[in-house]
Amino acid sequence: MSFTPMMKQYLDIKKQYSDCLLFFRLGDFYELFFEDAVIASRELEIVLTGRDAGQEERVPMCGVPYHSAQGYIAKLLSRGYKVAICEQVEDPKKAKGLVKREVTKIYTPGTVTEEFFLQEKTNNYIIALAEKDGLIALAVAEVSTGYLGITSVDEGKIEVLASEIRRLAPTEAVVLKNFKKNFLLKDITGIVNYLEKLPAEEIEIAFKGPEASKEAYKILISYLKRIEPAVLSIFGQPEFYQIDSYLYFDESTRKNLEILRNREDNSSSLLGIIDFTQTAMGARKLKEELTKPLLNLKAITDRLDAVEILVKDYELRENLRENLKNLYDLERLSIKLVCGTINPKDLIKIKQSLPQIWHIKNSINHVKNKSVLFAEIYENLPEMREVYNLIDKSIVDDPPGSPKDGGIIKNGYNSTVDEYRKAREEGQDWIINYEKKERERTGIKSLKVNYNKVFGYFIEVTKANLHLVPADYQRKQTMVNAERFITEELKHYENLILGASEKLANLEYELFCEIRSEILKYQEDLKRAASAVALLDFLISLAVAAIEYDFTRPVITAEPVLEIKNGRHPVVEKSVGRANFVPNDLYLDTKENSLLLITGPNMAGKSTYMRQAALIVILAQIGSFVPAEYARVGLVDKILTRIGATDDLAKGQSTFMVEMIECNNILRNATSRSLILLDEVGRGTSTYDGISIAEAIIEYIQKKIKARTLFSTHYHELTGLEGEIPGVKNFTVLVQEKGEEVKFLHKVVPGKTDKSYGIYVAKLAGLPREVVERAYEILARFEDKGLKVKDTVPVQLSLFEEKPEPSGVIKELIELDLIRMTPLEALNKLYELRQKA
Ligand code: ADP
Repeated sequence: MSFTPMMKQYLDIKKQYSDCLLFFRLGDFYELFFEDAVIASRELEIVLTGRDAGQEERVPMCGVPYHSAQGYIAKLLSRGYKVAICEQVEDPKKAKGLVKREVTKIYTPGTVTEEFFLQEKTNNYIIALAEKDGLIALAVAEVSTGYLGITSVDEGKIEVLASEIRRLAPTEAVVLKNFKKNFLLKDITGIVNYLEKLPAEEIEIAFKGPEASKEAYKILISYLKRIEPAVLSIFGQPEFYQIDSYLYFDESTRKNLEILRNREDNSSSLLGIIDFTQTAMGARKLKEELTKPLLNLKAITDRLDAVEILVKDYELRENLRENLKNLYDLERLSIKLVCGTINPKDLIKIKQSLPQIWHIKNSINHVKNKSVLFAEIYENLPEMREVYNLIDKSIVDDPPGSPKDGGIIKNGYNSTVDEYRKAREEGQDWIINYEKKERERTGIKSLKVNYNKVFGYFIEVTKANLHLVPADYQRKQTMVNAERFITEELKHYENLILGASEKLANLEYELFCEIRSEILKYQEDLKRAASAVALLDFLISLAVAAIEYDFTRPVITAEPVLEIKNGRHPVVEKSVGRANFVPNDLYLDTKENSLLLITGPNMAGKSTYMRQAALIVILAQIGSFVPAEYARVGLVDKILTRIGATDDLAKGQSTFMVEMIECNNILRNATSRSLILLDEVGRGTSTYDGISIAEAIIEYIQKKIKARTLFSTHYHELTGLEGEIPGVKNFTVLVQEKGEEVKFLHKVVPGKTDKSYGIYVAKLAGLPREVVERAYEILARFEDKGLKVKDTVPVQLSLFEEKPEPSGVIKELIELDLIRMTPLEALNKLYELRQKA
């Protein structure tokens, strides 16, 4: 049996779009068939049915109404699918035989431009990778903003590229099928497209660069050409960038420092607390900058200069914020303009944004000579008065969303539009009069002239009055309580009115398209203005954060130092309150004070201290003021951290293995300009292994790398390294003891400690009093026997630790689920344990 003609048509089209879910238009629905239907019904939770297709068995089918398809498409995109929309491209009424159908649009996660599918404050990247002559190249585009960048690295530096890919977090990637570096693809959470081979068609390359870069560019462009050809015209020359011209931190550092995201809620990440941007463009910019702080002293200083002006000038700052508040997302609007998806409401958004730009120019006029960046912003804000005037005189103030239904063009803009409108109005007036006239003529007081889409205009008479209906009324439709009629006269005017309406809508659409292409000429200007606005919003946000949190301007230097007076951790400070946060000093260089070894009990504040140093560096290098009374920041090329993370456990690696892999990365990547943070390295194994590894790492860093390093540890033995290895300095976190009471002062001072206060922390955690008291007793016994606490360094217990294996009562103690136990249960358990001891 062969397929029905329609199914043959479907299969033909599907063959060309085998990588997409094909939405096949049938009447008011998009239908999916076969495997597509199975997938869609599962992902969208819609009913899977079947359809006769000329075969013995019905083929699986499911569908969504065309008018609500957007939501379904968005869901499929977010699940990593691509969707091809196949429309009827001729009027079904006029078609001879099968209606012609074609794919008119492809949606993919990395190429969408409509705001419906995008997150306002997040960039949406698509990347392509290629490899040639020992180089690996990355081409990256943000289709919705028109950004295109290219970078490449030596094969030996593939880690750096992997980190860049994780930073971009692309929703889509494209590579050739024979691409070998699969390692780079494993962390991509979006979809990966494999092209059979390089496209045969010529793709113009107007730049010089290594072959690998050209190939990555070709792959990306040819892919985009197939999906969304309109966007190609927006890119222009790609921006070439070097990953190592920005401060580098790897993914685990980004996570550990909670720069963009916090484990619990995103609002208490660094980004969450310092984001005072007013526009989506500024928000995206801030997020982007936080993931790639600068390494260029001049560029950082330029930003600091601008921020300082804004910090000092209240009026300027507040005026600008007010203007920004009323600015729409020009960046994405200009892309919609290029892609032809812009609608009348969008034009009004552009119009309303332009006066804000004029105000901004006005406001910064007096500071543009004081700051390089203000001058740049000023220059890059074209006024585009013509655009404003055109939209203002042509488009009504509150137009409908669709450009095709009319009601868009202002009266007085086009005389034909005015004429049609007049004709339509006259027709409508005639109808009102006609109703009056007919009521009088027939004596039916309740007679009504109505309109609906199916029948057009009609006269409605209730059943009770039917005997009064005159002979010239033609019956059209019977309702429950009434009958509907038409007359020759009514039809005549209906034709006039509807004719005028249809002509009007068509003409309005034509005019809209003309206006759109006129504005399209200003697309470059709009894009330029958008990035100037993004920069301005970013700078103002930094200034507002500086005031809000009492940040100061850091001194930036090329010397390898890090000097901080009364530094604070902005996020922890915000959560515990300014009054409760204890500021701390820090001094690091690459000579006498290059590695601070910080001992101190759990919960004392060691990792907060280390993290705040890193955050201050990051803030300084994006051009922000910093949370400290004074800070001198010597440019840091990389921030490398090993701070307890358990994320990789799911991947089947033990905590200790993860720890060692991270240490390996740090030791291999660090340079003398890096900042290294190591938190409790070596704790994942037995005590002696741990101490040995920690000491060897410290030696290596001091001898081979000489990077500024903060190293926190439980191993008091390591404090002996001060004086032995040049550059190592002991620091500790102050603890106040009053009898049994212990108070963590969170103050970091020179010196060392050999106390862990582990039992005290256990008490804070709410362990039963008996257990705590007993633990103190046992501790005293150890100390009496001359066994120093030092010799029994508490190994931090982790679920996944293998050794040393605790036994007996201790083991039972450890296994207790204290949180869930009632006090009585705990007491009973204690008695039980004592019996055994
Ligand atoms: P450690 O790394 O020594 O175990 P943390 O740095 O995680 O300790 O700090 C534990 C808690 O102590 C933090 O969550 C915070 O609430 C508080 N804390 C840390 N440092 C400070 C500080 N400087 N001022 C006030 N509270 C602090």
